[in-house]
Amino acid sequence: MINRDTGITSLPGIGEVRAAAFARLGIFTAGDLVRHYPRGYQRRGDIRAVRDAVPGEPCAFLLTVGTAPTVRTMPGRGRMTITKFSAYDESGKIEISYFNQPYRAKSFNLGDTFRFWGKIEIFSGRRQLANPISEPYTEGVPLPEFVPVYSLSEGLTQKLMASSVDGVLAAFARDPGYKDPVPPEIREKYDLCDRLTALRRIHFPGSYEDIESGRRTLVFDELLRFSLCISLSGKGSSVSPAAVMEDADELAGMFCMSLPFSPTGAQRRAIADIAKDMASGRRMDRLVCGDVGSGKTLCAEAAAFIAAKNGFQTAFLAPTEVLAAQHYRNLTKVFEPLGVRVGLLTGSTKAAERRKLLEELRSGEIDVLTGTHALLSEGVDFARLGLAVTDEQHRFGVRQRTMLSSGGDGLPPHILVMSATPIPRTLALMLYGDLKASMIDELPPGRQKIDTYAVGSGYHERLIAFIRRRVGEGRQVYVICPAVGSLEKEIKDDERVTGQLLDLSDLGGDSGIKLKSAVEYGKQLKKELPELSVGILHGKMKPQEKDKVMRAFAGGEISVLVSTTVIEVGVDVPNASLIIIENAERFGLSQLHQLRGRVGRGSAKSYCVLVSDAESEQAKKRLSIMKETNDGFKIAETDLQMRGPGEFFPAPDGSAMQHGALDLGLASLCDDTGLLEAASEAAKSLLADDPRLEKPENAALAGSVSEALKGAYDALN
Ligand code: ADP
Ligand code: MG
Repeated sequence: MINRDTGITSLPGIGEVRAAAFARLGIFTAGDLVRHYPRGYQRRGDIRAVRDAVPGEPCAFLLTVGTAPTVRTMPGRGRMTITKFSAYDESGKIEISYFNQPYRAKSFNLGDTFRFWGKIEIFSGRRQLANPISEPYTEGVPLPEFVPVYSLSEGLTQKLMASSVDGVLAAFARDPGYKDPVPPEIREKYDLCDRLTALRRIHFPGSYEDIESGRRTLVFDELLRFSLCISLSGKGSSVSPAAVMEDADELAGMFCMSLPFSPTGAQRRAIADIAKDMASGRRMDRLVCGDVGSGKTLCAEAAAFIAAKNGFQTAFLAPTEVLAAQHYRNLTKVFEPLGVRVGLLTGSTKAAERRKLLEELRSGEIDVLTGTHALLSEGVDFARLGLAVTDEQHRFGVRQRTMLSSGGDGLPPHILVMSATPIPRTLALMLYGDLKASMIDELPPGRQKIDTYAVGSGYHERLIAFIRRRVGEGRQVYVICPAVGSLEKEIKDDERVTGQLLDLSDLGGDSGIKLKSAVEYGKQLKKELPELSVGILHGKMKPQEKDKVMRAFAGGEISVLVSTTVIEVGVDVPNASLIIIENAERFGLSQLHQLRGRVGRGSAKSYCVLVSDAESEQAKKRLSIMKETNDGFKIAETDLQMRGPGEFFPAPDGSAMQHGALDLGLASLCDDTGLLEAASEAAKSLLADDPRLEKPENAALAGSVSEALKGAYDALN
């Protein structure tokens, strides 16, 4: 009996070797296989007359073999063979050839009719069809109208994929225990078909209507699971008690008055939300979400100030040493005049200094301790922890995030998370609800647009001149490369540390492009720009080395910094006015936007140059969106649309989440908003009736949700 969890090797014709090829596509079970939806269809039912065929465009023909096939060996070209014959329909004749498939000669008997699928080309005035797909045709026996086209990996064929899917769907249909997870009332209410029908329709449609109706059902299915996961994972329902911060509002106001500038409206709203949370007696669990440079730090500072004046300490967690040191400098500047004491603890803090710091922390002399995850290590004991701030939380593992769970007075600390990945509003509201997320959707005044260009690598000489001009004006330049060194392993390692490069499968036809490495490209630039000081920064360097380079760049001793994405998060060097991103096709939109946000922080006119030789539509679309807009929310929406929400909630190890609730195969949270609303309405009504999905009629649904939930807990909490 084959069910969803049956391993792929139990299917006919799939042994270890093919299973490995399926595994490369993330397909391990029968369930995975039927969720591997076609990326398109060949409309083979749409038969063209030979006369009407447009050269270069794939289409279907119904042709009768007109001459017996001949097999020739090509002179001087190794042992290449050509099998050739002509075939015709009422409108004309066509020459068909197969290369290196001499056995084909036997399949095409004079007078037999076949349906062919291929591209017509015209050579020396004659219509030709090379290596077309052929299906024997018999009058009265219908051939499929649409044939699915799947993403494949090496070792797989379209035929094998289609027949495996077909076999699994047939087995599901025979299984008396197969249960549609969506209850019938809901299917009826929202005009959906059952899941098996939907799967059959999307894989093997008979019409466009089939594709549409199959997709609608499956999208609803995904979104229903998604909504249920979010509700069940407990977001919005935790009411843990926490320390009451007195006079939070007044303190926030005092803090704002102490600033050299006035906060934006969005900052004021976020700070007011925070003050209210902290005074409520319930644990704050707030996300401050805003574009690069929108001034999120200020909101966290206000929170830390409220805590400090109430006699509570704050842990201020940053993902990298560079960023922790930067926060420390800023916090010291802001807090010193206000009598709030700040400390810095990272992995490279010297032992003696660390001892002193920990002592001051235990005695309560330090109000705000900034640092990297060193803050979470053994022996770091706060006297009275009242607030934990996490910057760029998606860089941290779950376990690390939960370690700060015990605070002063035996109560858990308030939690404030800042994220510069501007989560699209629709998604944020769904995930966190109005009460838990503050959107900073307004930039401080005076920010200018960063001019963005996309060029090919042929522009290198001009870019070198462009770098010279910027440095000549007294400015500094970032050059970003996707890889550390030239070795595959090094590339991989840095990816894990610093963020995700796009999967090769996202790149369409561009997977052959070589990655620029920071180390090698840095060396090259040192030669090409001998008069300038060029520095190199990447995730494989020791923390002290990294810090030294970063300091030298911040201090202006280095003019051109060649770096991997380690500089992506939050680094602030206002004098930098140009960022060049090599292999721009390898970065996701949100990541490109983050990187671009490294410039345009000062008064100088700033530029971003995206260098890419990518040809695929996906890559081109990403780059053109970057040229069009500087609006992080708009970019996030598009990113979400292009890549799905898994990207916004990376797995705890930093890799993009592949499985679970947020891994929407077909649904797009932007395009399917109507279905999203319907699904979340359905989820609400289901849970109103059965809050933990324990009723027997919801068992199938609960089963499919609980698996996804495992991932969702990790991603959301
Ligand atoms: P991000 O949201 O990317 O973390 P930051 O908090 O680092 O942004 O702020 C970026 C810069 O803008 C900082 O130099 C900060 O001092 C400045 N800034 C923040 N808020 C304002 C404001 N309301 N007016 C002027 N400058 C501001
Ligand atoms: Mg920041």
